Amino acid sequence: MKRWSALVVPVLLVVAVSLASPLAVAAQQTIRVGADTAFPPFEFVDEETGEYTGFDMELIRAIGEVMGVEVEIVNTVFDGLIPALLLGEFDVIISAMTITEERAQTVAFSDPYFVTGLVIATRPDETSIQSTEDLKGKTVAVQMGSTGHFAAADLPGVGRVDPYQFVDQAMTAVIIGAADAAILDELVAIEYMRAHPDAIKVVGEPFTTEEYGIAVRPQETELLAKINAALAELRASGRYDELYDKWFGVD
Ligand code: GLN
Repeated sequence: MKRWSALVVPVLLVVAVSLASPLAVAAQQTIRVGADTAFPPFEFVDEETGEYTGFDMELIRAIGEVMGVEVEIVNTVFDGLIPALLLGEFDVIISAMTITEERAQTVAFSDPYFVTGLVIATRPDETSIQSTEDLKGKTVAVQMGSTGHFAAADLPGVGRVDPYQFVDQAMTAVIIGAADAAILDELVAIEYMRAHPDAIKVVGEPFTTEEYGIAVRPQETELLAKINAALAELRASGRYDELYDKWFGVD
């Protein structure tokens, strides 16, 4: 017993001291970030490295660098992001999430970091769909809980709105003819058109204007202020523009 405690006491002391040391505190400085990581080019898995990549992923890592914290990405379906944030499964959402009045009643949004809009996507041979007017009587595929979903549901006369968990499934529905069109975020639609030029085309210009924001729980005012300060710093340093050009610049 004596020999046992002679060993355990110093070990416990070491554990207690290391827990209280600044190093241990620094090691805890990780922010957990929820994202639907199937939304290229904003968030997706790099097939070669298996890492999460995309504009948002690089932006949030850069924000983490400025804040001096580690960033850990937690993959969650888009429709489950806000509930999971509120339950404390992570502390931040970055997921090409549009700032809407409704969402702003339950979460707090950062300053906008991206301006975009919704478009219609359809098959290249579909010529009868030129605008939202032409969706009357049509089947429209959307991602569940997205602004594309809400917009489709609000369009008068749409035949049917089919919500899918992932945007990829909505696009597949269009490609195989299960839906006549999809409504989704412009740059994601363009990315699909680029990847599948024979199967998908984007119709016209965006018919909404939307701003993406980073979300935190409403009471996390200090965290939000740090995120906004980091965002401002990245804009001022030119790092934001570098990221923008990397992902959306003309090549
Ligand atoms: N911008 C859209 C929204 O906020 C879609 C986002 C997404 O699916 N990741 O609803």
